[in-house]
Amino acid sequence: MEQSVKNMRVAVYPGSFDPVTNGHLDIIHRAAKVFDKLIVAVLNNTSKNPLFSLEERMELLRLATKDLPNIEIDGFRDLLVNYMRDRQAYVVVRGLRAVSDFEYELQMASTNRKLSDEVETFFMTSTPQYSYLSSSIVREIAKFHGPISELVPPEVEEALRVKYPTSLGKS
Ligand code: ADP
Repeated sequence: MEQSVKNMRVAVYPGSFDPVTNGHLDIIHRAAKVFDKLIVAVLNNTSKNPLFSLEERMELLRLATKDLPNIEIDGFRDLLVNYMRDRQAYVVVRGLRAVSDFEYELQMASTNRKLSDEVETFFMTSTPQYSYLSSSIVREIAKFHGPISELVPPEVEEALRVKYPTSLGKS
């Protein structure tokens, strides 16, 4: 049965995804089962200096999620609550890896709630095998040509090989 957009449970999973890791993908797969539609929103954050451009990060996410029918990959540069209002979505999904994520996430969730009382944040705890995994750790290992095949999908592994054709450990 067709559901109208208004009745659909749409959630937004925002982040930098520089690049997408298996930890992000674990959250995406699990959240896609809970919500009718999940918008993965890639932040075009000019204050961070990303390794991958916004387009590259979005393309890698598209490739890594191509088997999931209810996922949309989008980019945003606005305040998250403004973006969500534009997309008529009121649920934010975030992943929690360790206690160290908690303080920052609490601050973000509380701020978003202050900015818009329509927005709710849902936290999903990471699967234990990914609880240490972050994009920055992957970038660091890739820089020195360390093994990353269990940390990222194959297209990201390939893209990192292109970014770092020679190991920065060898001079
Ligand atoms: P940001 O720069 O907004 O933290 P990230 O791309 O680093 O963006 O992360 C986006 C979201 O995914 C955050 O909620 C983060 O906690 C979560 N996340 C990142 N890595 C993992 C992981 N390994 N397991 C579960 N959640 C994760």
